[in-house]
Amino acid sequence: MTDVARRNWAGNVAYAARRFHRPSTLDELRRLVVGSDRIRAVGTGHSFNRLGDTTGDLISLAGLPPTVEVDRERGTVTVAAALRYGDLATRLHAEGLAVANLASLPHISVAGSVATGTHGSGDGNRNLAAAVAGLELVTADGDLLTVSRADGDRFAGMVVSLGALGVVTRVTLDVVPTFAICQYVRRDLPADRLDAAFASAYSVSGFTTWRSSTIDQVWRKQLADQPPPPADWLGTTAAEAPLHPVPGLDPVHCTAQLGEPGPWHDRLPHFRLGFTPSSGDELQSEYHLPRAAAAGALAALDGMRDRIAAVLQISELRTIAADDLWLSPNQGRDSLAIHFTWIDDAAAVLPVLAEVEQRLAPFAPRPHWGKVFTLDRSSVAAAFGRYADFAALLTELDPTGKFRTDLLDRYFPR
Ligand SMILES: Cc1cc2nc3c(=O)[nH]c(=O)nc-3n(C[C@H](O)[C@H](O)[C@H](O)COP(=O)(O)OP(=O)(O)OC[C@H]3O[C@@H](n4cnc5c(N)ncnc54)[C@H](O)[C@@H]3O)c2cc1C
Repeated sequence: MTDVARRNWAGNVAYAARRFHRPSTLDELRRLVVGSDRIRAVGTGHSFNRLGDTTGDLISLAGLPPTVEVDRERGTVTVAAALRYGDLATRLHAEGLAVANLASLPHISVAGSVATGTHGSGDGNRNLAAAVAGLELVTADGDLLTVSRADGDRFAGMVVSLGALGVVTRVTLDVVPTFAICQYVRRDLPADRLDAAFASAYSVSGFTTWRSSTIDQVWRKQLADQPPPPADWLGTTAAEAPLHPVPGLDPVHCTAQLGEPGPWHDRLPHFRLGFTPSSGDELQSEYHLPRAAAAGALAALDGMRDRIAAVLQISELRTIAADDLWLSPNQGRDSLAIHFTWIDDAAAVLPVLAEVEQRLAPFAPRPHWGKVFTLDRSSVAAAFGRYADFAALLTELDPTGKFRTDLLDRYFPR
């Protein structure tokens, strides 16, 4: 098959697969899994590292029917794994429904996002994987396994799977009634008002270039019935025209601002479907820290502000509520996420990244699984409280290492 991308979205990873497949039926997929000794599923390829790669068979599920089945009684929707959140969102909104939160872009697949613990923002919002109520997956022996929250703690181990437990074919998500959001962008937030900003609305992001200690932009996504922020809100000024978070880029790529009300899926992401998200020419890294360590972690990075700024396009600060998913970056702790959109120059970025990791080390940073990180295995093992449980589950469900990659072998050696 040819119509499976050979590179990830950012272009920094050329997949090493020997063969690429796009099955159009479940039976075809099961045969592929049974017949291969090394196989991985890829979503929309928006990860920045080799987590979604293999030297064997790489499969896209985009050829399977894009089903969306709402169960109003249970308050869930069951969707095809490869469906993009943006496509799901328009279908849900038409039914008067929503998912509680979205990432910065709607271009990403449901299964790929859930597998890495992808998140949006909000003191009261958990990551996207925490909305998963059930999964169907093809396991290493080709069987179709259905699991749900009723399976208890074991299910909590299977949701943020890193794609390592099987090929997910369907995902069941919690839904809520549709809702409207107004997005206000404010400029120049004093750093000591960050917590108050995060607490002020449904979903809040701070953007900084690290050129000063001030947060350059705050994107405040508030429920539409909340009054607008007052003129002197937390010492900021109101943006008078729409902005892009990356300085100098065209805000046409971004969701509507200036307080114009709109449905959840047109405001919670920063970027619009059909437009380029972020800068398009970049690398990304992100670390999740316990919320209580936020001030210390930000102060530690402030000490290398110039070196970060030299290789940075923009940095985003977000908060995420705790969940119980074993490999979630937010497992067991309310979190601050410090995100970096770097310039597209790995040689220049990696030494800076190493220093960022060193400075964050005292705060038990957990990396975003789909972004660039260089932490060693022991720090990752120590930071994730359920690391050993996941390692055991991996061996149990994939005894021959069919779904393994070099990156998994590095962090979960056999
Ligand atoms: C511009 C940009 C903005 C971003 N913004 C955010 C953000 O706001 N928040 C955030 O948390 N992250 C963000 N990310 C990162 C992104 O959300 C994650 O990397 C996410 O995993 C990408 O989803 P995907 O469908 O592209 O998955 P892929 O990158 O294709 O795959 C990710 C993993 O999922 C596995 N996988 C995919 N499909 C399946 C399946 N059917 N069964 C089993 N495993 C599967 C793959 O094997 C791989 O391990 C951003 C990335 C970009 C490029």
